[in-house]
Amino acid sequence: MTTLLVSQNNFADHQTPQGHPERADRIRAVEEALEDAQFAGLMRRSAPFGDLMLAELVHDGAYLGRLRDARPAEGMGQIDADTFISHRSMDALATGLGGALAALDAVLLGEVDNAFCAIRPPGHHAEIATPMGFCLINTVAITAREAQRKYGAERVAIVDFDVHHGNGTQDIFKDDPSVFYASSHQMPLYPGTGHPSETGVGNVVNVALPSHSGGAAMRGAYLDKILPALDNFAPDLILISAGFDAHIRDPLAQLEWVDEDFRWVTARLMDVAGARCGNRIVSLLEGGYDLRGLAGGVRQHVATLLGS
Ligand SMILES: [Zn+2]
Repeated sequence: MTTLLVSQNNFADHQTPQGHPERADRIRAVEEALEDAQFAGLMRRSAPFGDLMLAELVHDGAYLGRLRDARPAEGMGQIDADTFISHRSMDALATGLGGALAALDAVLLGEVDNAFCAIRPPGHHAEIATPMGFCLINTVAITAREAQRKYGAERVAIVDFDVHHGNGTQDIFKDDPSVFYASSHQMPLYPGTGHPSETGVGNVVNVALPSHSGGAAMRGAYLDKILPALDNFAPDLILISAGFDAHIRDPLAQLEWVDEDFRWVTARLMDVAGARCGNRIVSLLEGGYDLRGLAGGVRQHVATLLGS
């Protein structure tokens, strides 16, 4: 496999308060983890600025204006109990989106087989009209729409293994049969959505995993529910909302996956990508709040994408 790693050099422009789990050190930990010799084969690219107006592909017309209004002249502003926007957050959002779209270009033009984007802040909680849960714009959703708009992709799948349900992604696509959304997540847990009865127009698969259920329950759920539905959808492209907060070390959740579980789930998604869409996968970092857990999960995920 040829794999692109997209890094966001200005990730620290998005600031959160001292002690907030979603912090710039997360990206530093990911970059350090991928410096190892086993990752020498990665093609590496710096995230360019993307056009934030593309957020209107998935968010309402007033959304960006509301974000800009919430942005303070200096320091940090607060959007909800745990979501913050700082003076230069819009720059970080623009490169996070630009990085994801550069990865999309590279994969859909056949330059590489797959790509991983080390970007922050995460995006999958951002709904059509509401930023929330550390997320300011829904980058994976914009990337899916751009695959359709720019490249004519007819069927785009998003698989979300972040420990939290991607309520924003579901909100955006729940009435659209051209986008498939599958999420495995801990339940009960923030944001409270993602019950298996939420199926959209037949294009949404939610797998709710109980706390302390571990990797075996996850593997069973992917084999029984998510992978057959994904294969049946026959995507032209698979996007991954790659959160690493299901890791046993993570302080925000209790699913207790180990490093090897991230290798397994990545390999299974690659099996479907190989069978259905010429290996095309674009993976975007979402959550993961213990730096060692995050690094361990990312190492397995990216090594698997590379085919090593
Ligand atoms: Zn999460």
